[in-house]
Amino acid sequence: MIAALTAWLSWRSKNLSSSGALAAVVLGTIVLGLGGWAWGALLWSFFISASALSKLAGRRKSSLDAAFSKGSQRDAGQVIANGGICAAFVLLHLLLPQADWVWLGFAGTLAAANADTWGTELGVLSKRQPRLITTLQEVPRGTAGAITLEGSLASFGGALFIGLLAVLVSPPPSLGAATGICLLIGLAGILGAQADSWLSATVQAMYVCPACKQETEHAEVHSCGTPTQFKRGWRWFNNDLVNLSANLIGGMFAIIAFLSMG
Ligand SMILES: [Zn+2]
Repeated sequence: MIAALTAWLSWRSKNLSSSGALAAVVLGTIVLGLGGWAWGALLWSFFISASALSKLAGRRKSSLDAAFSKGSQRDAGQVIANGGICAAFVLLHLLLPQADWVWLGFAGTLAAANADTWGTELGVLSKRQPRLITTLQEVPRGTAGAITLEGSLASFGGALFIGLLAVLVSPPPSLGAATGICLLIGLAGILGAQADSWLSATVQAMYVCPACKQETEHAEVHSCGTPTQFKRGWRWFNNDLVNLSANLIGGMFAIIAFLSMG
C-alpha cells in the first residue's frame, strides 16, 4: 500500500510516467514487503530525495532538458535501472538472511544511485563550465560524462546520506563500526557515480540532432522533433544500462570492501 500510494503521488506530480509508476509499485512492494522496514526506508528515502531534487532543480534546468533524454519524468527503464538491483538484493536476503554483506550490497547500490541523482540534479545548476571526466576539457552543459565541482560535492552528499541512513535504520554493534560502514557505503556511492560519468563519456550510445547540432541520448527523435543520427558508443548501451552498471559497481564495491575488512 505504501509503494502504491508513493507511486501514485509521484505519477500525479509528474515525477513518474505511467510505466515508471507501475515499475515503482512492483519494486517498492518487493523491497518493502519482503525486505521490511529498514530496507524499505532506505529505498523510500532515495526515491523521495531524488524526486524532491528533480522538482527543485527542474524549474531552473528546463532549458537544458533538450540535452537529456527524458526530462524529469522517470519511466520504467529508469526506475528499474535504479531499483532493480536493490530488489534483487532483497530476494537474495530472503535466501541468505544471516549474510550482512547482502545489506551492504543493497545500501552500496542505492548510494551509487543517490550519488548520481544528486550530482546530476544539482550539478546541472552549477554556474561553472563543466569538464569532461575523461579529458577534463571544458564542454557544454548537459554533455554526457560532464562533471563540475558542485556536482561532485552533491554526489558525495548523496552517497553519505544513504550511508548515514543505512546505519540509522540498521545500527551496527558499535559507533566505530557504524562510522566505518557509513564511510564504506559513501565511498561505494562515489565510486558508482564516477563510473556512471566514465561510462557516459566513453561507451554510452550517443546521438546528435542534425537540426540543433546538439548531442543527445535520444535514440530516435530529438526533443525538437528532428530524427537523430548515431554518433558514438555501443549502440545497445543506453543511459538506463549506464545507470544499472554504475549502481552494480557501487553495490559490488560495498560487498568486497565489507568482506575484506572482516
Ligand atoms: Zn534538435
